[in-house]
Formats: sequence, structure tokens, C-alpha cells
Amino acid sequence: MTSPLNDTDRRLVDAASELLVRTHDADLHRVAAAARGASGQIYLGLSLRSPRVSVCAESTALANARIGGEQDIEAMVSVGLREDGTTVILNPCGVCRELVPAIAPGIRTLADDGGHPVWVTAADLLPMPWVRARSYD
Ligand SMILES: [Zn+2]
Repeated sequence: MTSPLNDTDRRLVDAASELLVRTHDADLHRVAAAARGASGQIYLGLSLRSPRVSVCAESTALANARIGGEQDIEAMVSVGLREDGTTVILNPCGVCRELVPAIAPGIRTLADDGGHPVWVTAADLLPMPWVRARSYD
């Protein structure tokens, strides 16, 4: 784990935060994410929620990065909205801890460690990932 934030990191957090403040809807969009590609471009993602199915903001940010032509996605952050209207860094859910490294194996994720932002690798988030017993290809 490495920490604090330089200006480039802060822009990533700000991009996700600005999106969530603008679009937050308790029923539809509770989380925003921002992913930075190797080009330096930032791609946004927004959670999608319905009574039966939800899609995480991280996955939509990664999809947007791929749509934008990014082969390598270097960094990502997700944020939620506090009741006072300020944003807070959210740690990825279990599904994202499996999904994100499959799409972006070298990604660093900005996580919250007791109120302190820390950059973590996929191995930090999921140290013993699920693997198949064998190949079925
Ligand atoms: Zn998730």
C-alpha cells in the first residue's frame, strides 16, 4: 500500500465526486467511479440500481475506458455521498474485487483505510482469488 494523493490522484477523486454530487439519486445512482487510463484520460462510471439488479460504478467506469480505447487502466476510485452532501472514498465490493483485476490486472485502487486514502493493488484487495480447478477450453 502506498498513500497520499498527488494532483493527478486528486483530479481522479474530484471527477468521481463531481459526477456523484451532480447525479446522485438514492433509488438509482448511489456510487460514482473514475478510472484513469494509461493515456491520462479519466473515464467516469455510475452505479445503476433497480429493485432486482444493480451494477456497480466501477464496472461502468471500466466499460467507458474500454469504449474510449484504453488498453491499460492504471487507477480507479469510487465515492459515495454522505448525508451532509460531501463525498467519501468507498472500498470496492466483493464482486468488483474479482471483476476489476480481470479487466485491468495492473490497476491501483484508491481505498479507504480507516479514514485515510491508500493506493492498493488487486492483490491487496483480493489476496487469495478464486480460481478454476482446471481449464475447460
Ligand atoms: Zn462493486
